[in-house]
Amino acid sequence: MRPGIRIKTPAEIEEMRGAGRVAAKALRVTCEAARPGVTTKELDELADTTIREEGAIPTFLGYGGFKGSICASINEEIVHGIPSPRLKLYAGDLLTIDVGATLAGWVGDNANSVGIGELDAEGQRLIDVTRKALYAGIAAAVPGNHFGDVSAAVGAVAEAAGLGIVREYTGHGVGREMHEEPNVPNYGTPGTGALLEPGMVFAIEPMFMLGGERVKVREDGWCVVTADGSRAAQIEHTIAVTADGPMILTCESESERWPAHV
Ligand code: MG
Repeated sequence: MRPGIRIKTPAEIEEMRGAGRVAAKALRVTCEAARPGVTTKELDELADTTIREEGAIPTFLGYGGFKGSICASINEEIVHGIPSPRLKLYAGDLLTIDVGATLAGWVGDNANSVGIGELDAEGQRLIDVTRKALYAGIAAAVPGNHFGDVSAAVGAVAEAAGLGIVREYTGHGVGREMHEEPNVPNYGTPGTGALLEPGMVFAIEPMFMLGGERVKVREDGWCVVTADGSRAAQIEHTIAVTADGPMILTCESESERWPAHV
């Protein structure tokens, strides 16, 4: 084990599952509510309410001074979009919502990209490939593999589809802190990085774009956008490495929990 990676016991992973379930519920509810005419601030309030009703705390709110319980990123916005009453959704938009919940001191972190109303074929393809990459990464998260195998599995899907990979922002260890060791990039070399062991918990979060790979941060200091204005998607689960295979913590139903077993 590399120093800095915190191993969770099976009992701790069960506790983290509680946080993951709340984060997944908040993500589902906000994605379902994301329709033309709705503002990202309204989605933020819905997520905040949903999380608190479950006895949890919105992890993102106040994190580094962030003013929101979700990140809401539209079209060329990749990640860290700040919710605003001035940001209304329009039919055809591609929206990414990222939301974290802290329950009993443990964090669950997940994200999804959805079309608002009817999405064009290219936007839908971007979402579909990003989800496929997430599950390729999850499938590689087994004991005996290395972190580089997870990263390489994610990146290979983007490359095969001709999509750009966001290289400056990565998945990450998750536990009592939202960001723990190690970083989990969306590209990599098989066989490199720390060996995966049962009890390692981390977020895999492919961030892909239709255009070139250059990104920039808006003047608000938060929102990351594609430099060429092309659209981006981000889909994320918090997962645990177990002796029985990769376990998804950020899901609501038990049937989603063991992707390799279905
Ligand atoms: Mg994350």
